[in-house]
Amino acid sequence: MTGADVLLLSDGPHDPDVTRLVIYEVPAARDLTRRQNNGEACVWCNAEDGLEPLGGASGWRPHGCPPCLQLRLEYLHAYTVWRRHVQDCELCRTVWCPDGWRPFLAHQIAYSLISTPGPKADPVFCACGCAVPLASRRLRPYVETPLSGPRYSHTGPCTDPGVLASVDEGPRR
Ligand SMILES: [Zn+2]
Ligand SMILES: [Zn+2]
Ligand SMILES: [Zn+2]
Repeated sequence: MTGADVLLLSDGPHDPDVTRLVIYEVPAARDLTRRQNNGEACVWCNAEDGLEPLGGASGWRPHGCPPCLQLRLEYLHAYTVWRRHVQDCELCRTVWCPDGWRPFLAHQIAYSLISTPGPKADPVFCACGCAVPLASRRLRPYVETPLSGPRYSHTGPCTDPGVLASVDEGPRR
């Protein structure tokens, strides 16, 4: 099984649990142009063709172009699949879990395709404030609260927030 196969394990990018997360991927209105806030340009790349609505409320009409939207949906799907595994896996809460490897890898690929300076940068900023490299085996989805947007956590003790955690944590150390 490859990372791509993992993406087929749930209902896919059109899983309602995935599509309802898209709005959390839209940059804040204050960071968008007037045209982006009005739904006249993609909120991620500024393209103007084939725009699709992303949700929004009270007059705010963010839209995305099909290629950007597809990348976000694949990312959110990979995140959701991984989070479901970690939620049900005691091992993943504390150490490296071999069964968590595939969803971890699928997430890493999908995340890297949308990573930009800003909220989706590498290293990943966890809910606790720690910065953990995207490829770190300590990185985990945040599972403590009901899902409202993709958030992250990590195994092991917190480093000082803002200090980069080490990449090379494996079971042999
Ligand atoms: Zn776009
Ligand atoms: Zn696991
Ligand atoms: Zn931390």
